[in-house]
Amino acid sequence: MFPAWGRYSNRRGRVIPGSIRMLARGRGTLLNPRMPHPDTWLKPMPQGLYCEPGDFFIDPARVVERAVVTHAHADHARPGHKAVLATDATLALMRARMGAKRAGGTQQALAYGEAITVGEVRVRLHPAGHVLGSAQVEMTYRGSRAVVSGDYKRVPDPTCAPFEPIPCDVFVTEATFGLPLFLHPPPEQEIARLLASMALFPDRTHVVGCYSLGKCQRTIALLRRAGWDAPIWLHPSLAAMCAVYEACGVALGDLRPVAQMRDPSGALVLAPPGSPVPRAVRPVVVAASGWMRVRARAKASGAELPLIVSDHADWAELNRTIDDTGAPEVWITHGWEAPLIHAAGLRGIRGRALRLVGYGDEETVDMENAG
Ligand SMILES: [Zn+2]
Ligand SMILES: [Zn+2]
Repeated sequence: MFPAWGRYSNRRGRVIPGSIRMLARGRGTLLNPRMPHPDTWLKPMPQGLYCEPGDFFIDPARVVERAVVTHAHADHARPGHKAVLATDATLALMRARMGAKRAGGTQQALAYGEAITVGEVRVRLHPAGHVLGSAQVEMTYRGSRAVVSGDYKRVPDPTCAPFEPIPCDVFVTEATFGLPLFLHPPPEQEIARLLASMALFPDRTHVVGCYSLGKCQRTIALLRRAGWDAPIWLHPSLAAMCAVYEACGVALGDLRPVAQMRDPSGALVLAPPGSPVPRAVRPVVVAASGWMRVRARAKASGAELPLIVSDHADWAELNRTIDDTGAPEVWITHGWEAPLIHAAGLRGIRGRALRLVGYGDEETVDMENAG
């Protein structure tokens, strides 16, 4: 049915003992020198990261024959690939955002933990904790194993499965917030600041600017957990993504189209950053982003209430995750690679900057795409 992806084993794979033994022996070398080092079979190319013995790309920035897609954000899931392998939820989000046809000629879903053999490579997907459906790609070739994290975070998120560290020989990570100054506060604390503002200004309309995939649904889920069960009014561009989340079993409570809002006083509206909300009463502009840590960015956003809520790992999470994988070598796709490589090096972990182009934080990329 899916000739593009070869043999489908449908078996839950086991952790390769070699990698575990490698952990016990310490870092810096692969367990068995006869294993091919991942740099001989996983290569940065102009299109993106290429797995040669499997003949596929991971999150390619250009149109390719076969793409494994970690998650549905625009900088990772580009339209028009001939064949796409991703989780069910990622495929559903891709179809919702770009239409069924553009989401990929052949679309094959792979559940977390299930194994598929592509060419000579065994591929499995594992939760990345970034947005619904987000996955790390684990590839095993002749006993050597690389894991590409995609975007991820470690802080629990009620809208997606938690990140699972996978032992590997090379861990490929992002570094969007790879500077020691980026330490995200607990998201509950930031949501509490929003609720406090709503209590303080009960007549004003609070307009939360948030990205349509992930940030929006997480913000809603956090608000529900904090006890806000009143209707949340949605800008139309956010509603489609929320519908996919709900179809995937993530309950988001009473959501309504902002066009139907009769009494804007005291209302809570979610909209993409910068979108006008008609009839808003003396709007309190709220922004929810990891970049709100940077004063200049917070100021530029024009937000009266900047909330530091990020779907990307902060500095501590990046370093902890590299350690948790036990990988003797870490490759960095994009972001602040130099500080992270330096910090890893102090712990005996070899670092390499891939400098893949086309990735960014989804907010910036989406703004660029919107032109
Ligand atoms: Zn992302
Ligand atoms: Zn990204």
